[in-house]
Amino acid sequence: MRIDCLTLFPDMMRAVLDESIIGRAVKAGILDIRYINIRDFAQNKHNRVDDAPYGGGMGMVMQPEPIYRAFQSVLENAEDKPKVIYMSPQGSVFSQDKAKELAKEEHLVLLCGHYEGVDERVLEEIVDEELSIGDYVLTGGEIPAMAVIDAVARMIPGVLPAEDAYSEESLYNGLLEYPQYTRPPEFLGREVPEVLLSGHHENIRKWRREESIRRTCKKRPELLNDADLTDKEKAFAELCMKENV
Ligand code: SAM
Repeated sequence: MRIDCLTLFPDMMRAVLDESIIGRAVKAGILDIRYINIRDFAQNKHNRVDDAPYGGGMGMVMQPEPIYRAFQSVLENAEDKPKVIYMSPQGSVFSQDKAKELAKEEHLVLLCGHYEGVDERVLEEIVDEELSIGDYVLTGGEIPAMAVIDAVARMIPGVLPAEDAYSEESLYNGLLEYPQYTRPPEFLGREVPEVLLSGHHENIRKWRREESIRRTCKKRPELLNDADLTDKEKAFAELCMKENV
């Protein structure tokens, strides 16, 4: 997958995305992440890319032309039309389902705003979709774009060692993940649940599934409405809700 980030702060994004699992996927050629500095497309002496808002008010607005030119430079060396996403607190809220959907795309362009935001006309011209990472306002779109890239990238084959590495995790199947334990078997008097030491794979699978349902009831009961549960599991969930365990 190719991802072009249109940003005023490419180094901020590179510093994060060149590390760890995503960094390794880039090095392995599974991901092609490119950083396009919008400022390189300013055509004035001081490389200005923002100006005061028409109608007055606080702050500065990112001008449309440098963003448009930066986007054109992406199109010039792209085979197909990419999906263009503007990171915005006004967008629909990003989710695991959205990450799954975006992981099927060949090419994404993520536009990161800054200051008071972006001139509306360039958004109308180039953007397919707006995405928010939650109902709060950040200073720029870089952190939201990195969150989206991380969540999407880990579902691309080859980025994680195996599909179970993400398909068993919280939210992928509509439930929270079961609790995890590692060595030592006892920590400050707290023992690892015995079943996990038993080596009995079927019992471990059952225990994990039940814990997953139990946890979801306790921490995010609203998720159960859309979770894929058998009749037996639904009855178990109802019991957990009733007994609050
Ligand atoms: N004035 C804008 C408004 O009220 O909708 C907010 C601008 S915000 C200070 C600057 C930039 O940060 C936005 O253009 C957007 O790219 C990014 N941003 C801020 N909060 C975000 C969020 N929750 N999700 C995604 N992007 C966000």
